[in-house]
Amino acid sequence: MVRRTMLIAVVWFVAAAVAAAAPQYKALIVDGQNVHDWKGTTPVLKKILEDTGLFKVDVATSPPKGADMSGFKPRFADYDAVVSNYQGDPWPEETKQALVDYVRNGGGLVIFHFACAAFPDWKEYNEMIGLGGWGGRNEKWGPYVRWRDGKFVRDTSPGKGGGHGPMQPFQIVVRNPDHPITKGLPEKFMHVPDELYGWLRGPAKNLTVLATAFAPKEKGGADEHEPILFTVNYGKGRVFQNAMGHTAKELKSVAFIVTFQRGVEWAASGKVTQKVPDDFPTADKASVRE
Ligand code: ZN
Repeated sequence: MVRRTMLIAVVWFVAAAVAAAAPQYKALIVDGQNVHDWKGTTPVLKKILEDTGLFKVDVATSPPKGADMSGFKPRFADYDAVVSNYQGDPWPEETKQALVDYVRNGGGLVIFHFACAAFPDWKEYNEMIGLGGWGGRNEKWGPYVRWRDGKFVRDTSPGKGGGHGPMQPFQIVVRNPDHPITKGLPEKFMHVPDELYGWLRGPAKNLTVLATAFAPKEKGGADEHEPILFTVNYGKGRVFQNAMGHTAKELKSVAFIVTFQRGVEWAASGKVTQKVPDDFPTADKASVRE
């Protein structure tokens, strides 16, 4: 009898521990094609999310470039957040529509680094991501959005969409400290040497720029404060874009890790419960986790 009571107690304890440890949200990383090293970055993105204890992460990998895509149908609607590490062949119409419906109905979408170059000819994708680059993008896609003289301006002047100078360390400046993703972060913080994306352009509807970085002309930039972290409200859904993270090496930067973790939680739920860690970078010193 004593043994039976003990067994029940042990079973109850294990069940309670499992329930307490079960992640709150389900996230899906989509990859399979990208001129970037998606095989190197996806496992790191997955671990960064799982380290929060908030996410259970699955990965949907598409067929390779040029292969038949007709069977690629990730079940977006089963997730709280979809993270795109994808840039490649167009998806089947059914899959494209499923992503649009998912976001429109309140899903969270996160655009990681070069995923902003995907699908230049997909109108709804451009609207969901707000700003993108490459893939032939130019003024026909929409304005540049830059921080000038203390406010954001839309610059409709003709020119390329997307570009960057050589790898360089850069300082990120929070322009919207009241948003859940940036609330509590220092106003300025350093990132490790990385590509500093500039000249992004797109419809920029319902767009909120959270943080910018200055891209000097002598380092291959436009001499503008470029959007690095931004959000888009699309239907009932939330979209977050993080322009950092060229390879797995740059994903060691705490500036990336923390803004990505917070951005995915916000995309999934509309709020951020994570505390700013002690190793967060300062205005002049980047921080890395090995
Ligand atoms: Zn890159």
